Amino acid sequence: MNVAANPNDLSDVIAADKANVWHHLVQHAMFETVDPKIIVEGKGLRVWDATGREMIDAVSGGVWTVNVGYGRERIADAVRDQLVKMNYFAGASGSIPAALFAQKLISKMPGMSRVYYSNSGSEANEKAYKMIRQIAHKKYGGKKYKILFRERDYHGTTIAALASGGQPERAMQYGPFPEGFIQVPHCLEYRAQWDVEDYGRRAADAIEEVILREGPETVGGLVLEPITAGGGVIVPPEGYWPRVQEICEKYDILLHIDEVVCGMGRTGEWFGYQNFGVKPDIVTMAKGVASGYAAISCTVTTERVFDMFKDDASDPLGYFRDISTFGGCTAGPAAALENMKILEEENLLQNTKERGAQLMARLEKIKAKHEIVGDVRGMGLFQGLELVANRETKAPLDEKIVARVVAAVGARGVMIGMTNRSLPGLNNTLCLSPALIATAADIDAIADAVDAAIAEIAATL
Ligand code: PLP
Repeated sequence: MNVAANPNDLSDVIAADKANVWHHLVQHAMFETVDPKIIVEGKGLRVWDATGREMIDAVSGGVWTVNVGYGRERIADAVRDQLVKMNYFAGASGSIPAALFAQKLISKMPGMSRVYYSNSGSEANEKAYKMIRQIAHKKYGGKKYKILFRERDYHGTTIAALASGGQPERAMQYGPFPEGFIQVPHCLEYRAQWDVEDYGRRAADAIEEVILREGPETVGGLVLEPITAGGGVIVPPEGYWPRVQEICEKYDILLHIDEVVCGMGRTGEWFGYQNFGVKPDIVTMAKGVASGYAAISCTVTTERVFDMFKDDASDPLGYFRDISTFGGCTAGPAAALENMKILEEENLLQNTKERGAQLMARLEKIKAKHEIVGDVRGMGLFQGLELVANRETKAPLDEKIVARVVAAVGARGVMIGMTNRSLPGLNNTLCLSPALIATAADIDAIADAVDAAIAEIAATL
């Protein structure tokens, strides 16, 4: 059926949506009983839906993206000005915003030096995998082709990104997958796999065990989220990152850090890895890079990695033979440059640290009050509460009940998220990640809503 949509009439818009839009990550049967929510406006931390209802967005656009908040005219203006002047050119030609954003980005990433543009987090990770694979061919006769990834981490939706995903339910029914992606154990101490004091070191040692099992001469890369996002907001325990660094150096393995969620201030530093003093070889980023005002992602490398692709007469195919058509669109870097200026001028990293500490303190109090909160974790404005049916056994709270908590928070005017559906135990963490502009009053409003919603649902159990 074709419905002629009149954008001024929202019933037409909803009909057009229901008739023609295939929504992401949704069982469409749900739209038989509820209409899709059409978000029509946003300002700061707040959004309005088609019914005029105002909500506080505590998930930055649903998936940790709108770091500087909604309605930023200066980003829209910068993009508009750039597009009317010069919107696009691909390949060896450059653009003013691409050069200036790369320079600014690198100034916040000591040790890194080259920025490769593309359009999504998945794509940025695919580029990194191709770099690691090509280096394996150029330097190690193709042998060092394996890429390790961690259980519960997520790196995107394309086939190789799914092959490197630690959330199996996302990959089911999409195989077969390319070879050479090998899983290492997660590092969530709350669901400990080892009974040891020094958990961070032990969890990192598990990576070395996998390397030794696979053969170090076959392992070329290790991809990790600095803090696991969709897999349950997992901050690696102390001792984890230094040991990971040591292992990568010992076996000559490229360390690729996926900053798609944590990048651009989300944790209170420019990048999540900077909280842990680690030195990556490759860093990928997307969501917060332009806060959703334009599609842009980056694969950032050290000069050492870049050098491995420099001209070599003996290997005419040895340069990085890759392109993303829209990596040449200037809207992305123009938006990203303005986004970074806002983060700096408004001191939003510091705000993230302060408001993050306030949120954590509130969540700890909520945990102390409610038996169904098993664990609270996170960093900056990126935090989660793991809900359990029983604190002693840590049995995860049923996903349907977790969904009722999310809905009860929504009924109080605050949008929060929960980590991925399906496998038991993975879907019971509430996610809180407001834009980095959140004020103390916003944080209190979010925490009040979560507190009251948990009390309401817990009383029915
Ligand atoms: N990496 C991480 C850590 C993510 O959370 C995501 C998306 O949620 C991706 C990569 C994929 O990004 P995109 O959806 O832009 O392809």
